[in-house]
Parts: sequence; C-alpha cells; structure tokens
Amino acid sequence: MKQVQEIENQIAELAYRLQVLKDELEQIRKTCVHEFIKDTYTQTCAKCNLTESLYY
Ligand SMILES: [Zn+2]
Repeated sequence: MKQVQEIENQIAELAYRLQVLKDELEQIRKTCVHEFIKDTYTQTCAKCNLTESLYY
C-alpha cells in the first residue's frame, strides 16, 4: 500500500511543521510586550493575539 505510506509520511511532515510553527509562535509571545485589550471575560493582546481568561 504505497498510498498509505505516502499519507503517513505527509502526516509526519505536517506534524513536524506544526511543532516548528508552535515553537515560533511561543517565541514571539515570550518576547512580546503585551498590549491587552479587555473583553468581558478575556483579554487579548493586540500585538501577538494571546488570549487570557480574566476569571478562573
Ligand atoms: Zn502580546
């Protein structure tokens, strides 16, 4: 089943790419000087789009 192997390879590649992008995003958010815009229950950074809940 060559097709199955190809799909599995693609999934592995995409999973790797996803991890790279997540790390990249985390890095951006780590260094961001947040400018939060408050909503009713959350606040969202205008620069990096990080959303935090105001109530736990
Ligand atoms: Zn931010």
